Amino acid sequence: MILDGVKILVIEDEAKTAQAIRRGLEAEGYDAAVVRTGEEGFSRLNSEAFDMVVLDWMLPGRDGIEILKTLRARSAKPPVLLLTARDAVEDRVTGLDNGADDYLVKPFAFAELLARIRALLRRTVPGEPLRKEVGDLVLDIRSRLVWRAGQEIVLTPREFDLLVHLMRYEGQVVTRQMLAQDVWREPNRATPLDNVIDVHLAHLRKKVDEGRRTRLIQTVRGVGFMLKEESEP
Ligand code: CA
Repeated sequence: MILDGVKILVIEDEAKTAQAIRRGLEAEGYDAAVVRTGEEGFSRLNSEAFDMVVLDWMLPGRDGIEILKTLRARSAKPPVLLLTARDAVEDRVTGLDNGADDYLVKPFAFAELLARIRALLRRTVPGEPLRKEVGDLVLDIRSRLVWRAGQEIVLTPREFDLLVHLMRYEGQVVTRQMLAQDVWREPNRATPLDNVIDVHLAHLRKKVDEGRRTRLIQTVRGVGFMLKEESEP
C-alpha cells in the first residue's frame, strides 16, 4: 500500500507518548507531525491539510473536545481518532457526539492504534475520483465538503460516508446490507443495523433534498436506496 503523502497530525501533550506515536507512524510510512497543545494543533489545522488527526482528550488549555467542537462547526475536517484515559460509556458518547470518528482508551497497544488509523483512512478509496457530481450536487472527497446548487451542506462524518457510497453507485440500488458492510463495517452484526441506517438516511435526505425542486435520494421499496436525479413531473 502506498502511504506516500498520508499526513497525520498528532495532538498529544505527554512527550513520551507523543514521540512513541510519531516514531511508530513514521516506521509505517506515514508523514507524522506532533504538537503538544490544542492551540498549536489548531493553528496547524488552519494552515495545512491533514488526512487524519490523532487527538488526545486531556490537553492543557483547549482540550480535545473543544478542538472537536470547533472542527465540527467547519464541516471540512479530516477523520479524528480520540485518545483518552477515560473509559466510561458517557465519555465515549461525549467524544463521538462531538465529532470524533473513533475512540481509543489509554493505555493501548500500538498495533491497535494502527488498525484504527487504517480503518479511518480506508473510508476514502485510493484511485477514486476526488470530486463527484450528480445533478447540482457536488461532493469533494478530500475536503469532505458537499454543495447543492452551489450552497454548502453541512454533514456529520457518517452522513458524508453514506453520501459517498450512494454517489459511488449512482443510478444503482444500494442495499442496507451494503451500507452495513461498507459504511458501518459490520457485516456480521447480530442485531441488524437497519433502523440505524434508516435514521441516518433520513437525516441525510433532509439535508440534501428538503425544499429542492428535484429529489436525489430515492427509496427503492423493500430493497434499499438509490441516488438518481428524479425526472421532473
Ligand atoms: Ca494528555
